[in-house]
Formats: sequence, C-alpha cells, structure tokens
Amino acid sequence: MDFKFTQEQERFRKEVRDFLEGEIEKGIFETRANGWVTEENEAFVHHLAERGWLGMTWPQEYGGQGRSYLDRLILTEEMMHYGAPGGGFLVGDRQIGPSIMAHGTEEQRDFFLPRIVRGETSFAIGISEPQAGSDVGALETRAVEEGDSFVISGQKVWTSNASRSDFIYLIARTNFAPEVSRYRSISEFIVDLKTPGITINPLMDMAGHGHWCEVFFDDVQVPGTTLIGKKDMGFYQIMSQLDYERAGVERLMGNYPLLRGIIDYTKETKRDGVPLCKQPRIRYMLSDLMIKFEVGKLLVYRVAWLLNQKEKPTLTRDTCIAKVYGNRFEQELDNAAMNIAGLHGQLDSGSKCAILDGAITRAYLFSPAHSIQGGTSEILMNIIADRGLGLPRK
Ligand SMILES: Cc1cc2nc3c(=O)[nH]c(=O)nc-3n(C[C@H](O)[C@H](O)[C@H](O)COP(=O)(O)OP(=O)(O)OC[C@H]3O[C@@H](n4cnc5c(N)ncnc54)[C@H](O)[C@@H]3O)c2cc1C
Repeated sequence: MDFKFTQEQERFRKEVRDFLEGEIEKGIFETRANGWVTEENEAFVHHLAERGWLGMTWPQEYGGQGRSYLDRLILTEEMMHYGAPGGGFLVGDRQIGPSIMAHGTEEQRDFFLPRIVRGETSFAIGISEPQAGSDVGALETRAVEEGDSFVISGQKVWTSNASRSDFIYLIARTNFAPEVSRYRSISEFIVDLKTPGITINPLMDMAGHGHWCEVFFDDVQVPGTTLIGKKDMGFYQIMSQLDYERAGVERLMGNYPLLRGIIDYTKETKRDGVPLCKQPRIRYMLSDLMIKFEVGKLLVYRVAWLLNQKEKPTLTRDTCIAKVYGNRFEQELDNAAMNIAGLHGQLDSGSKCAILDGAITRAYLFSPAHSIQGGTSEILMNIIADRGLGLPRK
C-alpha cells in the first residue's frame, strides 16, 4: 500500500475543497454532521454532476469518467469533512450504479446509469421489513410473477429518503416452494416509487430528522423488466452490493464536522478561567479520538486502494472491520463531545445557550444509528468470528 497521495491527487483534493467552500459560501448547503444520510439537496447534486463527479469511477460508455477509486475516496472524504448533503444521490453513485453494472441488462444500464451520472435520479433501498432486519432471509414482501409482470405486496421500513426518491431498489420473495431455501427465493427489483399501489409514510427519528419512511406495496403491478439480475438470486446479489455500502470513508467521517467543532470549542471556551483545551482530561480525550481517527482512515483507505488494484475487498478482513471500527469511532466521538460540552451540549438549535448550534445533541441522539444502519455491529462481528476466525457457530 502506498500511503502517499500523488501531486495530481492532492491537486484534486484542493479542487474539491475550493468547490465545497464555494458551495457553502453561496448558501447551496450548510455543514451538517450526518448530512450524508439525512440531508438531500438537488442543487448540490447537479453541481457535482456538472463536474463529472457522480459515477466518476464508472466506464465512459456509461457516462462515467473512468477515474480511480482513490479520486472517489478523496471526493467523499472532503464531502464528509464539510458535512455535505448526500441523501438520495450517494446511494445511486455508491451502490445502485455498480449493482446495475454487475447484474443489470443492457437496457437497464442504458436507462439508469446516465441518469445517475447526470444527477437526475435518486434511489431508496428497500431491504428491511418489520420482521426482517438483520435476518434478511425472513422477509415477507412477495413478488408474484403473472405473465410479463410481477405483483408486489408487503411492507418495507426504515427506508431512508423514500419520500424524496424516484425509485426504490427492493428485494421480495419470488419463489414460494416449501423445499426451496429462503435465501434462494428472493429477487431484486428497481421500482418507480410513483407506481399506483405504493404508499410512503415518513417517520421521524429521535434526533428529529424525517429521512426514514415506511413503504407499503398494495398489489403493485410492475413490468418484468424491473427485475435485476437472476430471479431468486437477489439475496446473493444484494450481499455484494452491501460491500460497497459498508466499507466507505463515510462510515468513519459521517459526523466529522462535530470533531472539528468540538476541538475549536475547547480552544474558545474557558471553565473556571482555564481554556478547556488545557485541561488534561479533555486533551487526552481529544488525542485519543485523533489516534482512533487516523487508524480508521488507514482501514478505509485500504479498501479504496484494493478497489483501485481491481481487487475485491474481503468481507471479514476489510469490509466488516472498517465498518465496525468506523461506527465505534463515530459513537465515541458523539459521547466525548457530549462529555466535554456538559449540560449545554444537550441544548438544540434555537436555544441561545446551545453549543455548535445544537450539533452535539443531534449527533448524540443519532449516535445509536451508526452501528445499526448497513448491518449491525453484532452481525458484522459474528461474520468476523465465523468466517474470519473460523470459530464454530453458536
Ligand atoms: C439511520 C438508518 C438508516 C437505515 N436505512 C435503511 C434503508 O435505507 N433501507 C433499509 O432497508 N434499511 C435501512 N435501515 C435499517 C437497518 O438496515 C436495520 O435496522 C438493521 O439491519 C437491523 O435490523 P432491525 O432494526 O430489524 O434489528 P434486528 O435485526 O431486530 O436486531 C435487533 C438487535 O439484535 C441484534 N441481533 C440480531 N440478530 C442477531 C444475531 N444473530 N446475533 C447477535 N445479535 C443479533 C442486532 O445486532 C440488534 O442489536 C436503516 C437503519 C438506520 C439506523
């Protein structure tokens, strides 16, 4: 692994920083911890598309730039650094596009990929259901084949950004024979969210963001062309898609603006006449976070580097470790920020005594989500135990 970025990559980083600072100055977006999940911003997406920064690693025949995964890492890292909005478009760029390239038909590629690259279409992901979260194989949504179409019925939940997305990438049961394994009976579909029979109810999370939704399918008829890849093999297809989701730098830096903010706060704020940053307990807390952050960066850089070498990250060695580690770091950061800020850290924006405009309390309330979204830490650690360490299953 080469730890140094080339001069060209450093120039690109500067270009991205100048762009993001310009967007903030022009009021296009406001820095927000966790904005990559909770905030969506059409103007910003279009500006990224104009620069060719959506689908930038994809082949040129699909509208991509054929650029390296390290360039994409730099772009994402800087977006996290500035707390840029990522809802909707990040999903298409990060995992739906690569899945369509891997499993889709030529018609599906021609339809979706250029639209993702132009920032014209956004996706929600419909995996989780009330009775099927970690245990995806337990899903109950059905897609019954009828001639050239499928009829979908069931419910998805915790579907991020469904109320503001164009399509849902969903999985549903397509084989009901009792002897068939529950994993070899699931298929993937991309469905237009405006199709009759779909009802979307936004849900509020405890941090006050309304990005989640429950999505109901009431005998929704969709053409057979919405099926992605092989019928009944969707479980295996979606597992490879999750690799793209789990190992990105956003798992470490989702609430990076909070790290920057709390460091500045300790320099500017005195307690008992002493700046907080001079108190040993707080200095060690911040140093500890920096050590963990730098180690975490190496884990996510490694994944980008592997992809650049055209190697697939290993589930146990790379993907699970990077996600579990990154999620822990983010939760420790939220805890440390609340600890340092004391009682004022609990105040939200709107209160004149709020610190960092309420970012600490919002990040703290969002904190449990880090080790749940994209697969819980317990599940990922079980995978490491089973497949990485070869420990017998319970
Ligand atoms: C911010 C956020 C965004 C999300 N966005 C989406 C989205 O866009 N689309 C989507 O489909 N889903 C989304 N989810 C849902 C997420 O994928 C699920 O919440 C997650 O997979 C866990 O499923 P569950 O909530 O049903 O919990 P459960 O699976 O019921 O788990 C409950 C608890 O039991 C533990 N547990 C379960 N099984 C085991 C086991 N075998 N061994 C040890 N411990 C176990 C879990 O680790 C967890 O702590 C999102 C979640 C969050 C927090």
